[in-house]
Amino acid sequence: MLLKNGTTLILSPSRIERVDLRVRGRSVVAKAKTLRPMKGEETVDLSDRLIMPGMVNAHTHLYSALARGMPAPKQSPETFLEILKKIWWKLDESLDEESIYYSALVGSMDAIRNGTTTLIDHHSSPNYIMESLDAIADAMLRVGIRGILCYETTDRGGRKRRDAGLDENERFLNRYRNHALLRGIVGAHASLTLNDDTMQTLGEMSRRYDCGVHIHVAEDKADVLDAPRRSLTAHDFSRGKIHVKRNPRTVSTVSSHLVKRLERFGLLSPQSILAHGVHLSQSELKRIEAAGAWLVHNPRSNMNNAVGYAPLQWFGEQAALGTDGFPADMFEECRMGFFRNQESGHRVAFDRLPDMLHAGQRLAGSFFQQEFGTLAVGSAADLIVLDYLPPTPLHANNLAGHFLFGINSRMVVHSMVNGQWAMFNRQLVGIDEEKVMKEAALVASKLWKRVTQR
Ligand SMILES: [Zn+2]
Repeated sequence: MLLKNGTTLILSPSRIERVDLRVRGRSVVAKAKTLRPMKGEETVDLSDRLIMPGMVNAHTHLYSALARGMPAPKQSPETFLEILKKIWWKLDESLDEESIYYSALVGSMDAIRNGTTTLIDHHSSPNYIMESLDAIADAMLRVGIRGILCYETTDRGGRKRRDAGLDENERFLNRYRNHALLRGIVGAHASLTLNDDTMQTLGEMSRRYDCGVHIHVAEDKADVLDAPRRSLTAHDFSRGKIHVKRNPRTVSTVSSHLVKRLERFGLLSPQSILAHGVHLSQSELKRIEAAGAWLVHNPRSNMNNAVGYAPLQWFGEQAALGTDGFPADMFEECRMGFFRNQESGHRVAFDRLPDMLHAGQRLAGSFFQQEFGTLAVGSAADLIVLDYLPPTPLHANNLAGHFLFGINSRMVVHSMVNGQWAMFNRQLVGIDEEKVMKEAALVASKLWKRVTQR
């Protein structure tokens, strides 16, 4: 397929080029000022529209897609742990195969509409664990989106469910080892719901499959304050070494216990994905960076849950953006993250947030052993086309300004994943959207009923 007369826009290092692109199979195979159509080749005239590499949502929970508009709990949650217990754990315990499938289906459709071509998902459904990831995979393949999936292993529901979670990760890792669009990673909820032996098993599994662990880290103070209790003996407490309960301000002094705990069980590896990192000190973030693990910043979720603000100024190069369950609109996430940072008093570089979107593309590429995010010859044909008419001069040096203050997901016209259109002229390919949304709303009302009965 030949894409003619487009303008490619690369986020990092920022670059704008007026080029023709040739896509064959899963890759970009040629790029030049002018390419002549080959015999029998399909040609798409982009008439000066922008072409960007597809966006990557580096941490999300598709299972929350049907929670939009769900009745609020009778008593509103006051702390982060109460938010988990009163909302999300009631929802995940109410999920069955049908609601997992429809959550993933509408979440993936939304993503493609917003120009997001890869979702790195973190799934939980304690009453439907085995083959839950297949239900998500089926929905994602129907939409034609790329995914890196896992089940969030936890000790919260006892031994049997923990083992089922571990098994589900392993089963999926084996089944989708060489799939064109899907990969597995070892999933874990968070240090605060994981016992030592489970952490040990997770670390061993990630080494066996050479794939890292996807886990929440220091999203809320509770995760940080819990770690020393797990890593120290009762003797240490009785001698008064740790006063975590009495003084929550000691968070920065105890965050080393959390990172050491991850290190001790081998969870800090180059392909590990640590979501949040809100309550980590500069030295802990340095250790994570040195280990080659990835951090994912989720600004909208952090603001919504009032868990605090991540110290972005200390995040290294391997830091991406995620939506943590919000719709996969990475333009919106990037903009929100930018504004939150401006307000923080620890302002990072102007193009830092768009850079983090590019980092997410690098992260996804590392799972598929192909370059993402560059549209260079040989790189993945995951791309989006946008209808943007700049009202001011647009060039490589001011691209971040256009990206943060002008370009948005409503402008996405086409989305291509792995060389195939998943959306063309704003129509999802092979999907009757209206019909799916009606079906999803029925599934959602049944799901909400189960949630309110818990
Ligand atoms: Zn999350």
